[in-house]
Amino acid sequence: PPLLELRGVGKQYQLGEVALDALAGVDLRIERGEFIAVWGPSGSGKSTLCNLLGLLDTPTSGSLAFDGEPTARMSDRRRSDVRNRAIGFVFQSFNLVPVLSALENVMLPLQIGGAPERTARAEAAERLAQVGLAAHMAHRPARLSGGQQQRVAIARALITRPALVVADEPTANLDTENAVMIIELMRRIGRHEGATFVFSTHDERLLGRVDRQLQLRDGRAVSDRQVAPARGVS
Ligand code: ADP
Ligand code: ADP
Repeated sequence: PPLLELRGVGKQYQLGEVALDALAGVDLRIERGEFIAVWGPSGSGKSTLCNLLGLLDTPTSGSLAFDGEPTARMSDRRRSDVRNRAIGFVFQSFNLVPVLSALENVMLPLQIGGAPERTARAEAAERLAQVGLAAHMAHRPARLSGGQQQRVAIARALITRPALVVADEPTANLDTENAVMIIELMRRIGRHEGATFVFSTHDERLLGRVDRQLQLRDGRAVSDRQVAPARGVS
């Protein structure tokens, strides 16, 4: 099965008396190894879609299947198990723990999963080296630049070897140079690991760097362009 399959997916929020369709009628197949940008202006539904793809939230209409398993049939427990095992997250505001070093931040998901400290430490060090931060492992986030903090967050997202990484506006707090660096880093690592990356952005300048561009407008997918050959394996 595809990694993700959405059929007629909608997400409706109830704001008092008013129902708001944050997403409507989204059909989408995402294969393993894809590198996809979800783009559109603020309010177009990017965060809502990211939350659904990352199994942080469930559709209010239509169906969404992760690796062939419909989320509608998953218990909350099952959904969080799948999320912890198979999905990594990167956020706009980095979301690192301020009192922990870069290395300790990256170790966290493995430790929460019950890995021995030595294993977690070794793998985290390897991941930090992979994102070019071998020399900064002992630093707390406040001592790192925004671009460096986001690289730590990427290392942390990858530490459990997820099939999917969902990044909601990962470059919104970065200057253009760092934004491009982060996107290129995600692309390189995605290719190397065979992981699927989906990131959202309102910055059209980043679109030239992806394989597939999914454009949202008012909660609808108004275009879905494959700009580079799919390198999915499924
Ligand atoms: P984007 O990420 O493209 O800015 P969002 O997915 O955040 O778009 O929002 C899409 C629409 O849904 C917007 O109108 C937003 O205000 C609304 N929305 C998002 N989250 C919620 C929520 N938790 N409750 C109510 N409305 C929401
Ligand atoms: P972004 O679009 O950059 O992710 P937002 O500022 O749109 O961030 O939303 C931040 C959080 O607030 C998200 O979790 C979103 O779902 C929620 N949210 C957005 N709009 C609304 C709204 N109108 N009512 C309630 N929650 C909202």
